[in-house]
Amino acid sequence: MTDAAGDDAVPTHCPYCALQCGMSLRRTADDPGVEVVERPGFPVNRGALCGKGRTAAAVLSSRVRLTGPLVRRSKDGPLEPAGWDEALGAVAAGLTAARAGHGPDAVGVFGGGGLTNEKAYALGKFARVVLGTSQIDYNGRFCMSSAAAAHQRAFGLDRGMPFPLADVARTGCVILVGSNLAETMPPALRYLTELRENGGTLIVVDPRRTRTAEQADLHLAPRPGTDLALALGLSHLVVAQGRTDEEFVRERTTGWPAARAAVMAHWPEHVERVTGVPVPQLREAVRLFCDAPTGMVLTARGPEQQSKGTDTVGAWINLCLATGRAGRPLSGYGCLTGQGNGQGGREHGQKADQLPGYRKLTDPAAREHVARVWGVAPDSLPGPGRSAYELLDALGGDVKALLLMGSNPVVSAPRAAHVEGRLRSLDFLAVADVVLSETAALADVVLPVTQWAEETGTTTSLEGRVLLRRRALTPPPGVRTDLQLLNGLAALLGHEKGFPPDPEEVFDELRRASAGGPADYSGITYRRIAAEDGVFWPCPEESHPGTPRLFLDRFATEDGRARFVPVVHRPAGEETDAEYPVLLTTGRVVAQYQSGAQTRRVAELNEAAPGPFVELHPRLAERVGVGDGELLAVVSRRGRAVAPARVTDAIRADTVFMPFHWPGEGRANNLTNPALDPTSRMPEFKVCAVRLERAG
Ligand code: SF4
Repeated sequence: MTDAAGDDAVPTHCPYCALQCGMSLRRTADDPGVEVVERPGFPVNRGALCGKGRTAAAVLSSRVRLTGPLVRRSKDGPLEPAGWDEALGAVAAGLTAARAGHGPDAVGVFGGGGLTNEKAYALGKFARVVLGTSQIDYNGRFCMSSAAAAHQRAFGLDRGMPFPLADVARTGCVILVGSNLAETMPPALRYLTELRENGGTLIVVDPRRTRTAEQADLHLAPRPGTDLALALGLSHLVVAQGRTDEEFVRERTTGWPAARAAVMAHWPEHVERVTGVPVPQLREAVRLFCDAPTGMVLTARGPEQQSKGTDTVGAWINLCLATGRAGRPLSGYGCLTGQGNGQGGREHGQKADQLPGYRKLTDPAAREHVARVWGVAPDSLPGPGRSAYELLDALGGDVKALLLMGSNPVVSAPRAAHVEGRLRSLDFLAVADVVLSETAALADVVLPVTQWAEETGTTTSLEGRVLLRRRALTPPPGVRTDLQLLNGLAALLGHEKGFPPDPEEVFDELRRASAGGPADYSGITYRRIAAEDGVFWPCPEESHPGTPRLFLDRFATEDGRARFVPVVHRPAGEETDAEYPVLLTTGRVVAQYQSGAQTRRVAELNEAAPGPFVELHPRLAERVGVGDGELLAVVSRRGRAVAPARVTDAIRADTVFMPFHWPGEGRANNLTNPALDPTSRMPEFKVCAVRLERAG
């Protein structure tokens, strides 16, 4: 493994997004004891890091983090310092009381897409074996669950990207839908730059002319919530122009006649009226995509975070299938997963409906296999529970106590003020985190945990590459790893065995639990990951090389064919009207990450992105009577947020944009709509109706 930082530097990966950039940690004499240095030998980012990665060591400093447990000794009292025995005892008592009074499902567990594979696995097992609750889900439900559902439906298997990122630079044409890579994962932008340098073309679909869209050969700016109609319109033109890959459709797919009929009902002129994208631009997109010898569609949160996200991604997959751009070298559909372990986090059992190895909780054979590994009776495993928003919405109702790990829903959940109220209404809330997040501040017990540089564990990147993060630093004495925490809690709740604190031991059990499942990790070991700098799943044996590219011979369906699923356009969960005449869409900025719990504590990042803003078009600003930098109130049916206006012609005149990283009066998720996709249960973060008011 190449390491430009020197022999004493520990090779590892960034704690933030799903690109999981390679970096090294070199020891220093100053607090926090390590510094981030480049690791050019890791092939995905080749040494490049964004500002978040470069400054990641800052959060390790004791000045910005929790270094000991906190306990609220009376319901309305303050959080006070406590020892681990008292804190864990209080958690065990709180969970036990809810369970004893109201049954196992009165205890909820909420995980995170940033947890390592080992933690996600242990948390799912803890919920089902120790607590016996079905009420477990995680914040990854808010991230890429629609893409996962559509992937599963069409291909029989969900791995965000079924090919390595390096293939993106060598394909003929990329349609990038609802992704602002320049802000979300800047080192990945070079694949799009190389694509164009290699003669390929880039089409970006986004209601905003983002820094990513500025690099495109063609930018389509649909009205938020209409990407589904856009994809159908493109497919209509593909068929009408005779550009369907008939041989591929015949040999490698099923379901085309019904999907074709749905496509043909979406005339380009109608699609132009719905999306606002002119017909000539639709024709140009089809020309660029179909003229290229190979092509890809990559989606991110734009099309996915909608109440029809699964069908929207399905429509883009159908476009790939109709044009023969799937299951072939340098072609296919991929999802750019967001959170650090967004891929692995959804494979190992912290999702309401899944068991490790990406197995279905309702599958009797899967239950039997996993129960055998866990040493319990299959019948003792609870069934599927509620999805993330539905679980948060049930807090204080039939869910009385919650254990929350690695998530900050007070900032990141839709209809956030309501979710905050539900959290406050709990009989008992325990939060494990590295900082006193806005959610941790509401807890009865706060458990301070180690960070990425202080523990060893694996993550699975957006490519499906399983990676090893290594311990490079001794944690402060007052904190424990999440695995130590679960080990201690399980013992207090009567399970002395089954929850080892050693990550490699947990990983080896995970390998056995995943064996034979869709996400088979059984051939992946810590030793191999270290030697090979990552191994792609599925990898069923230690002698297996891993699988960088999926579906080249057959898809993962029973008959080996990809499935067209007919989809039709339907409106967003909330349309504009006289009272709420403008659309709101939300997203991220480069210097902050998700709910900002960590990045808002880094001075350099805060200087670059100190607070929220409302991006709007000059015509809309004039109509509202607000100037650049003046305070603007955005009001939806669920709440209000106030932030300075940022006036720019890089956004549609019917739409405003807010980043969602901040709490307080600028909290964008005060406004967002929890309307759920019927399949993925993804809330509709990307579109809701609002009105604007001057707030100066
Ligand atoms: Fe970290 Fe993502 Fe930035 Fe890479 S792009 S340095 S993984 S936050």
